[in-house]
Amino acid sequence: MTANEAELVETPADAITGHSSGADWLARYNSSLMGVFGTPQRVLVRGAGCLVWDADGKEYLDLLGGIAVNALGHAHPFVTSVISSQLATLGHVSNFFTSPTQIALAEKLLAITNAPAGSKVFFANSGTEANEAAFKLARRNSDAKRTKIIALEGAFHGRTMGALALTAKEAYRAPFEPLPGGVVHIPFGDIEALRSAVDESTAAVFLEPIQGEAGVRPLSAEYLQAAREATTAAGALLILDEVQTGIGRTGKWLASEDAGIVPDAITLAKGLGGGFPIGALLTFGSTTSALLTAGQHGTTFGGNPVATAAALATLHAIESQGVLQNVQSVGEYLRAGISAVEAVAEVRGEGLLIGIDLTADIAPAMVTAALDAGFIINSPGPRTIRLAPPLILTTEQADRFLAALPSLIATATATTAKDAQ
Ligand SMILES: *Cc1c(COP(=O)(O)O)cnc(C)c1O
Repeated sequence: MTANEAELVETPADAITGHSSGADWLARYNSSLMGVFGTPQRVLVRGAGCLVWDADGKEYLDLLGGIAVNALGHAHPFVTSVISSQLATLGHVSNFFTSPTQIALAEKLLAITNAPAGSKVFFANSGTEANEAAFKLARRNSDAKRTKIIALEGAFHGRTMGALALTAKEAYRAPFEPLPGGVVHIPFGDIEALRSAVDESTAAVFLEPIQGEAGVRPLSAEYLQAAREATTAAGALLILDEVQTGIGRTGKWLASEDAGIVPDAITLAKGLGGGFPIGALLTFGSTTSALLTAGQHGTTFGGNPVATAAALATLHAIESQGVLQNVQSVGEYLRAGISAVEAVAEVRGEGLLIGIDLTADIAPAMVTAALDAGFIINSPGPRTIRLAPPLILTTEQADRFLAALPSLIATATATTAKDAQ
């Protein structure tokens, strides 16, 4: 076998793309890809477990997991083999037809979320699409007068127009107004503000049990319970966006589990397909499930055999490999280790969704320092770091990051000070 053939075996698309250095790829990226993401940090070519490699051969410990998506890390053997064999058998059928994996996944999701009788599932391809479906569900909870939809300050629900209307950040919203109307944003975590906002004109309340993009900010169980009470009393829907927090991210199937409430709907995406694109809206109980009727919503790709097989394989591996317990123990270990580091002001989150507040605005510089040192992390704010690693992260891998953390902070502090001069 020649060297070229060996590379073909590793990454089949090499035959089409050819090889370049990271710098060359990024120059080509900038002249051919739309600028909405800025220049990417690296060009990644390969992954295995919690590790990825860039086009120049450098290795990274992936502590972001494709933003809480790669639940089982990269190239998980079981998920990979199920996806490959499903694709080699039946890849797409449209929603004029169904397939065993679609039905089995819907049943499985209703089982792991303890959904009451009459609950149903709609499959989409992403988080924002799951929330679009939920937005339409909310609109259907209308006897004409129910026009108000409540979301929280700091909320992130996606980038398409309906989900964007629910998203709070002004910079994301302003360029695209007018957005679908009726959405109001109320202060985060303020039970009194919630109680006075929810009234007979309210169609739905959208909540993330832990706000991810806002820097990992958890709502208390009391808040979720108060939201359930207020919405039930007013006839409004309680819709939980567990796109980031669901599917084991917090060491439970759902982050909202411990609050002991039954919402009217939840949305899922990110970790659900183990890296393969899929989203879902779950409606709880037959009344809510009947709000969207035949012809009122749809998607061409949603719920296709490959995506639903990927999700089934992911859920099966999480269950059979003790992954939820791993999330709990490694998450606790990592958070305790981070808390002990000087210059860390606060550590938030649950399981392997971790927010770290630093004592100065050095988070963007820390992302750069971490990349140079071989770690992928994320800064959702100027002094906040987010970690959302694969749920299979080991204690040894957590230790590697903990050992490096003080020097990453020191480097980031130095470069930030230098840049300010
Ligand atoms: C990421 C995210 C979304 C949007 O998901 P996409 O797949 O990027 O469309 C929605 N809600 C929450 C809570 C998220 O974290």
